[in-house]
Amino acid sequence: MVTLLIYLSGDNVLKIGILSRNPDLYSTRRLVEAGQKLGHEVEVIDTLHCYMNIAAHAPTIHYKGEELVGFDAVIPRIGASITFYGTAVLRQFEMMGVYPLNESVAISRSRDKLRSLQLLSRKGIGMPVTGFAHKPDDVQDLIKMVGGAPLVIKLLEGTQGIGVVLAETKKAAESVIEAFMGLKTNILVQEFVKEADGADIRCLVVGDKVVAAMKRQAQPGEFRSNLHRGGTASVVRITPAERATAVQAAKVMGLNVAGVDLLRSSSGPKVMEVNSSPGLEGIEASTGKDVAGMIIKFIEKQIDIKTNPLSRT
Ligand code: ADP
Ligand code: GLU
Repeated sequence: MVTLLIYLSGDNVLKIGILSRNPDLYSTRRLVEAGQKLGHEVEVIDTLHCYMNIAAHAPTIHYKGEELVGFDAVIPRIGASITFYGTAVLRQFEMMGVYPLNESVAISRSRDKLRSLQLLSRKGIGMPVTGFAHKPDDVQDLIKMVGGAPLVIKLLEGTQGIGVVLAETKKAAESVIEAFMGLKTNILVQEFVKEADGADIRCLVVGDKVVAAMKRQAQPGEFRSNLHRGGTASVVRITPAERATAVQAAKVMGLNVAGVDLLRSSSGPKVMEVNSSPGLEGIEASTGKDVAGMIIKFIEKQIDIKTNPLSRT
């Protein structure tokens, strides 16, 4: 029997770019460290400082006076506030044939909460009963539509739990919805999953696996489990249904790497959100896992499959 060995472009060293505004952020530092430890060349590229030439057949990216060349893969760590420019830079890398850990279209998709929930619901993924509204003329009907109080009302543009309110009664729900309507923003009205008991589960998906999971528990008297709201994180064993839901949610969104937030309800896991740039600090600290290393190994495998289909056997 003949064994055929083909190596990646002569050697196994990859040139990996990390699109990040700040090399000192924990997640960025860890990805650099993990990449270098596995023998790769890793460069942090400040997304907003890239400028691009979108000429026909010759897309290029310039950075600090030089053209960025020779990259095999790019890891987007694009903050929500720079989604528009960040995904444009990432798209330029894609047009140059560089492998993106998460694709620009998938990131844009995940940044739109309404679109994300619509896509997940179409595929039958469990989620809290949710209504969207901008300027409902009949607030009572909106409340009735999602099953009545208690309700969670969310400002669509909120992050870190800010703009997420629990209305325990129908009266409270009405006043909060009316107040939010006055702000002329889109709102999301959601069934309150009481059984979750102030906790949610963050599943870190890499490829088709949940590689780490943590439980975030809210402070006593608080229902929001965000770490920024004083929540605490600990390692958790997830059920096969939770595992399958998280993997499927990432897949529907088209994300190779995702942080899927679930609530444990009496009728199974309910997805709240799928995050395309999940933070690594909380999940690595609470689980003790080398998530950054697993992400780099995933990239190695993808590039290997792309350049050498025989390697799969
Ligand atoms: P953000 O994106 O600002 O973090 P989330 O929608 O994730 O907002 O909500 C913040 C927290 O509030 C969640 O982590 C969860 O603990 C809690 N929460 C959100 N929605 C619900 C719900 N429908 N039922 C129960 N708890 C919820
Ligand atoms: N910032 C998030 C929080 O406060 C956790 C990090 C993440 O999104 O991965 O809960």
